[in-house]
Amino acid sequence: MRLLTYRSGGKITYGAVMGDGIVDLGAALGADFPDLKAIIAGGGMNRARAALEAGEPSASLEGIEYLPVIPNSEKILCVGLNYEDHRIETDFEPTGHPTLFNRWAECQCGHGQPMVLPRNSVEFDYEGELAVIIGRDGRHVDEADALDIVAGYSVYNDGSIRDWQMHTTQFLPGKNFDATGAFGPWMVTPDEVGDPDDLAISLRLNGETLQDSRTSHMIFKIPRLIAYISSFTTLRPGDVIVSGTPGGVGFTRTPPIFMKAGDVVEVEIEKVGVLRNPIVAEG
Ligand code: ZN
Repeated sequence: MRLLTYRSGGKITYGAVMGDGIVDLGAALGADFPDLKAIIAGGGMNRARAALEAGEPSASLEGIEYLPVIPNSEKILCVGLNYEDHRIETDFEPTGHPTLFNRWAECQCGHGQPMVLPRNSVEFDYEGELAVIIGRDGRHVDEADALDIVAGYSVYNDGSIRDWQMHTTQFLPGKNFDATGAFGPWMVTPDEVGDPDDLAISLRLNGETLQDSRTSHMIFKIPRLIAYISSFTTLRPGDVIVSGTPGGVGFTRTPPIFMKAGDVVEVEIEKVGVLRNPIVAEG
């Protein structure tokens, strides 16, 4: 099942993909579950499945505005330096534990929405990543049980303003500019994805492949990330772990590659989907 948050006819709702259309689950189940996070948190996935099977598409995928898959996550935890080739190209020392930083929900955009090059930088870089959406509360979760708390997987472009990221040792400012974190187009439930640690992941800028790897190359794999994060905080339904990017980012190239207005960036993950965004300059 592919689930998404979108706007259609001026109304924000959530739904499930059926062919090239979408069944409006918000219309069917909204009284009990007002948004996608609520249906995940409320144990409503079986009702979503039943509503999908009984439903008819009310819009085409081409006719909707995609929003961030979960627009209102309580926590968005991003993992830095989680592929060895990316660690080496950025010249960071190895660490025994994952490097983590936060994004907040307001810095995100959906599939097809513009990613915004801010007026105070030209160093807008791309990072294709697998996003993991949490399905239920998790604290001190064992690695062996970690995938049991996953609601689904999505695609993320952890768009980074490199000069602001590197002002100090803390990455936060460069990772939280408005409309720089692209999240979509949908989340795919685990039954359709299988092992999240063995998926092809690639990124194209204006059609040219600049990242091409597999999630099997992660240093800290998804179960380890869930175990580590849940050892210091309670993971909640709708929380998102953005699991790091492979080698091939723009700023370490000679000459560097940065995204500019008019570009189109795409991240593709096997069994999950393609996330595509145009780049626009801040007005
Ligand atoms: Zn990243």
